[in-house]
Amino acid sequence: MTATEALRVDGSRLWRRLDEMARLGATPAGGVHRLALSAEDRRARDLFGARAAELGLSVTVDRIGNMFARREGTDPALRLVLLGSHLDSQPTGGRFDGPLGVLAGLEVLETLREAGIETRAPLEVANWTNEEGTRFAPAMLGSGAFSGRFALADALASTDPSGVTVEAALDEIGYAGQTPVGGRSFRAALELHIEQGPTLEEAECEVGVVTGVQGAHWYDLTLRGEETHAGPTPMERRVDPVEALGASLVRMYEVLAAEFAPEGRLTHGVLEARPASRNTVPGEVRISVDIRHPDGERLESMAARLTSEVAEICEPRGIEAVWAHIWRSPPVRFDDGCVSAVAAAARVCGYSYREMVSGAGHDSVHVADIAPTAMIFVPCEDGVSHNESERITPEQAEAGANVLLHAALALANAR
Ligand SMILES: [Zn+2]
Repeated sequence: MTATEALRVDGSRLWRRLDEMARLGATPAGGVHRLALSAEDRRARDLFGARAAELGLSVTVDRIGNMFARREGTDPALRLVLLGSHLDSQPTGGRFDGPLGVLAGLEVLETLREAGIETRAPLEVANWTNEEGTRFAPAMLGSGAFSGRFALADALASTDPSGVTVEAALDEIGYAGQTPVGGRSFRAALELHIEQGPTLEEAECEVGVVTGVQGAHWYDLTLRGEETHAGPTPMERRVDPVEALGASLVRMYEVLAAEFAPEGRLTHGVLEARPASRNTVPGEVRISVDIRHPDGERLESMAARLTSEVAEICEPRGIEAVWAHIWRSPPVRFDDGCVSAVAAAARVCGYSYREMVSGAGHDSVHVADIAPTAMIFVPCEDGVSHNESERITPEQAEAGANVLLHAALALANAR
């Protein structure tokens, strides 16, 4: 093993920094409340900027508030390698969803500085604005504006529930930067994140080499029947959308299990009946349908199968089924070179790893539009995330940061 291969981050320092960050917006239950562009987010940004300054890094802030801390490389002609994630949280979020990737990025740069190691390509650590999408919609707003998936004007005009725009909130906390949004080119981009699911823990793997992110479709499905009185109307005379919904749900789950397991996902998070009166057969029921699959073609055939199955249930009953397509996110396949660099880094460090597809969306979905990208996952306890009890061990944080270090080194120094 060469001296460079033997290099490791300082795990206890990283853990202290995670702890320090978790105090900003800390909740009594041990989680964090740090909504995007809030006073807590400003303190987190200030802390990121202060740490970066201590390391001699130059920090720039763009017009949507994305922050970048830069360490120069030895070859000015080379495009940069980007490391990063987000510092905002869910309303009752965990301490590691986001900050792990940002603070591990700074830890990588601090480790290189201490070891006196320079890289050929420059390295930057990013803190993306409004990843969670809790205060401002959509989620992954800063990286989406950066990649060009969202128009900057639309992103700045997005409002929170009390009508405050992103633009006003950026001004309020002093993070409306001067740098143009996007328009830069990258050699590679890496994001370390907790898995937010149970796969790695169940497989007793230390590291997930993330090859892509599954695709999703969102629909509103409305079943229309006939409003009638709950008492006098005989059962056989009813055109009852709730009965049709029950049969449709059973069929959808059966088809999913029979044809799209284990990767396919089906979720109905919203169910409404109208007019929502206890003694009236509803004229209409509406449910949300969220379907996901890592394979684009399988995702489309899932959508088609579910639609035709519901039609088959509803037609003979005289029920009208209307699907409204709300949102689509195609599956993302990360860059082969970056994925290989992550796997090689896990081997250099001697960690057990497996390749996997991310179930959740991340800033890397947008970054992958403009840069060769890959992600690194570490397990979290019981796969629990978006929860104040979200937990990882210091060893897991350290393992993720070490893989980030060696993947970044390889990508930044490659000829
Ligand atoms: Zn996250």
